[in-house]
Amino acid sequence: MQYEYKRTNIYKQADENMLKDIFDYAEGYKKFLFESKTERGACAAAVKLCEERGFRPYMFGDKVKAGDKLYFVNRGKNIFIVKIGTNDIAKHGIKIMAAHVDSPRLDLKPNPLYEDSGMAFFKTHYYGGIKKYQWPTIPLALTGVVVLRGGKKVEVNVGDDDGDPIFYITDLLPHLSQEQNEKTLGKAISGESLNAIVGSLHEGDEEKESIKAAVLKLLHDKYGMSEIDFQTSELCFVPAGKPRDVGFDRALISAYGHDDKVCAYPEMTGLFESDGKDTVMAIFADKEETGSDGVTGMQSRVIVDLIDCISRALGADPVLVRYNSKCISADVCAAYDPEFASVYEKRNSSYISCGASITKYHGARGKSATNDASAEMVGYVRDALEDAGVVYQTGELGKIDIGGGGTVAKYIANLGIDTLDMGVPVLSMHAPYEIISKADVYSMHLAMLAFCNKH
Ligand code: MN
Ligand code: MN
Repeated sequence: MQYEYKRTNIYKQADENMLKDIFDYAEGYKKFLFESKTERGACAAAVKLCEERGFRPYMFGDKVKAGDKLYFVNRGKNIFIVKIGTNDIAKHGIKIMAAHVDSPRLDLKPNPLYEDSGMAFFKTHYYGGIKKYQWPTIPLALTGVVVLRGGKKVEVNVGDDDGDPIFYITDLLPHLSQEQNEKTLGKAISGESLNAIVGSLHEGDEEKESIKAAVLKLLHDKYGMSEIDFQTSELCFVPAGKPRDVGFDRALISAYGHDDKVCAYPEMTGLFESDGKDTVMAIFADKEETGSDGVTGMQSRVIVDLIDCISRALGADPVLVRYNSKCISADVCAAYDPEFASVYEKRNSSYISCGASITKYHGARGKSATNDASAEMVGYVRDALEDAGVVYQTGELGKIDIGGGGTVAKYIANLGIDTLDMGVPVLSMHAPYEIISKADVYSMHLAMLAFCNKH
């Protein structure tokens, strides 16, 4: 009997078969991630994977029976994937897994286009928590939708295909940076200075704003849009490029938007493979990075309406269903970074390649504004993981009073549903390119599957 608790590094104990499973799974994840730069992309990618597996669209009021495989897309930006189980839904509740699929980025302002000194630019308004100095001098892609007069929707995706141009925010040359170098990291690059170059050719022979005119003509030719249509668009700059393996051994992945697609993908694959006994629901939420408000965020009523409708269609009381449901709030956590050791508490940090990590509570200043999961709920999930032989770990975000963060957990717990945070450790979280371990995303898949299949 071993009385002492020790974290397990998955790569240290994995045999050849396990390594193959881990690396094979990572290829599917990388493909999904590349298609999922925004919440709209993630929902579209999920719909494709669902339809390949026989899932069908659901609308409130539809009839529902055991064995049904459904998905409900909320306004293109938030998806609920549901597998109706054979177990009594009132007694067993729903196994809910909730991740978010929005990631920090640079949204365009409503009037983004201007020209200055031989170049045209788009003005941006950053979305989510970014370190602004990380965004200049990296290749950016432009993605999103434009709604034209009359409601026609045009998709824009420039910068991710081979041969596409990219967009670019400048930084100051070091030779003239003496004043900039005196500023703190947080102030060296301002939000208002995050303007990206979008053109420099001229249109016509007018002196004034001929580069702006040239960009507008290109946009009109390609998308049928005029300048006012920016006001009815959702366009954003995201880091360009595909997920890439990191290190000689390819054991880690660098990519934009691991937070939180690295948990969204495993909850979906876990649902796909689940045994069909309990009803399971995988949620890809929008707006987590800005506080989960809005019609597609986790504070929206839509989740309650959906649970109500499904419960009633199965002849169950939705109040009982919610009370007996359990939820994993599947969101990333901070991986211990030896380069910045001073902000972590070593015994209570999550480590790269040691598996998906349970975070009992978030919050700052004495656990304020957190869902602090009960010992019983953590125990339930622990049993599910240990019964299935899943390697997992546990950690806090960082040292006490150093900072803090949150997830969607509290919004679901506030509905009367037992909820626990669990997710993949990330290095350089919220940077344009973040890093995760292939071992950890696979551990998250096994963890979600074990959660669905615990009875
Ligand atoms: Mn997150
Ligand atoms: Mn985040």
